[in-house]
Amino acid sequence: MSTYDVVIIGSGPGGYVAAIRCAQLGLKTAIIEKYSTLGGTCLNVGCIPSKALLDSSHHYDDAIKHFEEHGIDISGEVKVNLEQMMKRKSSVVSQTCDGVKFLMNKNKIDVIYGVGSFKDSTHVTIDKTEGESETIEAKNIIIATGSKPASLPFIKLDKERVITSTEALKLKEIPKHMIVIGGGVIGLELGQVYNRLGSEVTVIEYMDRIIPTMDAALSRELNKVFKKQGMNINVSHKVKSVERSGDEVIIKADDKKGNEVEFKADYCLVAVGRRPFTDGLNANAAGVEIGERGMITVNEHLQTNVRNIYAIGDVVRGAMLAHKAEEEGTFVAEVIAGQKPHIDYNLIPGVVYTWPEVSAVGKTEEELKEAGVNYKEGKFPMRALGRSRASGDTDGFVKILTNADTDEVLGVHMIGARVADLITEAVTAMEFRASAEDIARMSHAHPTYAEAVKEAALAATGDRAMHI
Ligand code: FAD
Ligand code: NAD
Repeated sequence: MSTYDVVIIGSGPGGYVAAIRCAQLGLKTAIIEKYSTLGGTCLNVGCIPSKALLDSSHHYDDAIKHFEEHGIDISGEVKVNLEQMMKRKSSVVSQTCDGVKFLMNKNKIDVIYGVGSFKDSTHVTIDKTEGESETIEAKNIIIATGSKPASLPFIKLDKERVITSTEALKLKEIPKHMIVIGGGVIGLELGQVYNRLGSEVTVIEYMDRIIPTMDAALSRELNKVFKKQGMNINVSHKVKSVERSGDEVIIKADDKKGNEVEFKADYCLVAVGRRPFTDGLNANAAGVEIGERGMITVNEHLQTNVRNIYAIGDVVRGAMLAHKAEEEGTFVAEVIAGQKPHIDYNLIPGVVYTWPEVSAVGKTEEELKEAGVNYKEGKFPMRALGRSRASGDTDGFVKILTNADTDEVLGVHMIGARVADLITEAVTAMEFRASAEDIARMSHAHPTYAEAVKEAALAATGDRAMHI
């Protein structure tokens, strides 16, 4: 029987990063994956394919709506070749998954394909696709089994017309009308893809605003821009039934006043969150307690109730984000190696990759109000930047929230062109506990979108923004 220092179940961004860090630290490591490709949700049916489709559809949108004003004449009809778009997406996915395989080889990590389940707290059995099974021994085990789409109890996901993100990433036709249940990250990113490709898109959100966990100013601005782009957004709507009738899906919901509203579409994307995935793990055999909705409870060292078994990523509490899973993968490897790592969960950024992009780190204004913090706000609109006018991306703003007494930056909220990348400046500043004055005094290259960060910091230090 093979024996390892660490065995990792699941090869998503949590699992494969944990494996690399374990190997770097000299630990003999194996990783188990039930699918034939590595990379988990993120690489196969999440971050990477969704961004590939967002980028492709953005090119199309630019071609049909913006090329003319830039003086680019593309005479003749511009058409979408969905098959080619999907082919390109699949090729991006497979190149990225192959990259993870390469990294496993490079770091001498054993990859075992099959479903991993606990035999006891130090043994994992792998049921392979060919019907064989193998049991391996491990001093430490990391559960990194991720998550699956959640649904509502009354919805029958037929995966043809009533679909999850996984099917929405590989549709064979452009829907005439797509209803999206859930105005969160998945609903808006994939809703925007199909809206650009020509579908009518209607979003139905239960809360009183889209992206309800982010700062309310971001929700308002994104809602405004989406309406301009032709998306139908219905907030404060409680979906109560979803029925398929032939090629049609009929959705009934109660609006804010309790009146029933009916929606009809040819596709319905259910994007109401994801649930931790522990099916088939046989965690009981190891004595690992599985908590509410399948989530594994961990302590501050990401240890389960069984000392040598850890859990990371979407299967534990916190934001279901690839970079959060990666940080936890590194963290656990270092804990196992005897180090004392640290993660500041307040500084894990959140990003929505629509256009305009949305990004945030730290506290929202609503959270600061609720906590009774004496805060100040500095805000700068993208439209006042030379760079934004040059590219034509004038929607959005940067908003910086500071402690009114100390000037320390407590939260940064952005919407606009390339803010997915800009948020890293805010994370860096906050990791070093910067004040708004610190950011305001740093030179920001001109002309860049990043100048909005400097200007918002100037505004936060006392109305010192210069270009407005
Ligand atoms: P996963 O990536 O879910 O990986 C778990 C792996 O474990 C899977 O490969 C699974 O097959 C395997 N597994 C499960 N059980 C077993 C078993 N018993 N034996 C063997 N293998 C097993 N996050 C971002 O940060 N940015 C984004 O842009 C982004 N976009 C997304 C878009 C979509 C459409 C979706 C669905 C998600 C997106 N996410 C994004 C979220 C991100 O994908 C997840 O947070 C991330 O993948 C979680 O990583 P993980 O390692 O915890 O689990
Ligand atoms: P989410 O939690 O972001 O959004 C779900 C939305 O559905 C929420 O706004 C919620 O209020 C709404 N909702 C819940 N029940 C509803 C109901 N009955 N009727 C109408 N609306 C309802 O979840 P998601 O968009 O499904 O994404 C799942 C996870 O994947 C998220 O945790 C997210 O972090 C991750 N993800 C991240 C990215 C990214 O980082 N860019 C992209 C995609 C997914």
